[in-house]
Amino acid sequence: MGSILSVKNLAKIYKSGSNTLTVLQHIDFDIEEKSTVAIVGPSGSGKTTLLGLCAGLDRASSGDVILNNINLNNLNEDERAWIRNQHVGFIFQNFQLLSTLTALENVMVPLELRGASNIKEKAMELLEKVGLQDRASHYPSQLSGGEQQRISLARAFSNSPKILFADEPTGNLDTETGERVEKLLFDLNREAGTTLVLVTHDLELAARTQRVIRLKGGKLLDNAE
Ligand code: ADP
Repeated sequence: MGSILSVKNLAKIYKSGSNTLTVLQHIDFDIEEKSTVAIVGPSGSGKTTLLGLCAGLDRASSGDVILNNINLNNLNEDERAWIRNQHVGFIFQNFQLLSTLTALENVMVPLELRGASNIKEKAMELLEKVGLQDRASHYPSQLSGGEQQRISLARAFSNSPKILFADEPTGNLDTETGERVEKLLFDLNREAGTTLVLVTHDLELAARTQRVIRLKGGKLLDNAE
């Protein structure tokens, strides 16, 4: 099977005044289509930065991120947003739902942005998929952390992404709720073939993926399969 994501000699350097901070360097790996991968490493090792670069949320200082055969580093911000809209799902540790919108409206937003038809019905179907159809009219503040994360999953599933990036998706959840969210993610991989790339400090979760990429001090420790 082909690779859906290729990272080549990637580096990220933050500059502020005369200070430079090299957060990532010499990062090379390929991720197979339809596979599940965990990115692990100590706090501050660059995991979140790497995930953001792979998902096109941010741009590398040098090197290439080739997602679905398109080199993100040749694209401007609008073009990267378009690619994200088409192919990518992203899940944050702190859910990042819009607090002034209901659960249903949060799921409708990305459908609306893509100009989909029957968005209310589609959003309802997505809520059903994560078992939260009865919470459609609730606001995020009226939902538990696990429910909010399931809404953010429904939102991330809305474009049937080829690849889904998740930054500590279970990090703020208790064990039982975390397992429910995990199951939804792995079901998506199994049923729809969505490639999963998870940043996690949970080694049990990492062990359930097909491959672990280890970072330390902004470099790959190894990427043995
Ligand atoms: P991890 O996810 O492994 O904890 P991060 O990718 O969040 O690591 O951060 C890696 C390093 O990059 C840290 O030293 C952090 O302070 C630094 N960093 C992250 N974002 C920025 C930024 N926008 N500007 C400057 N430094 C940053």
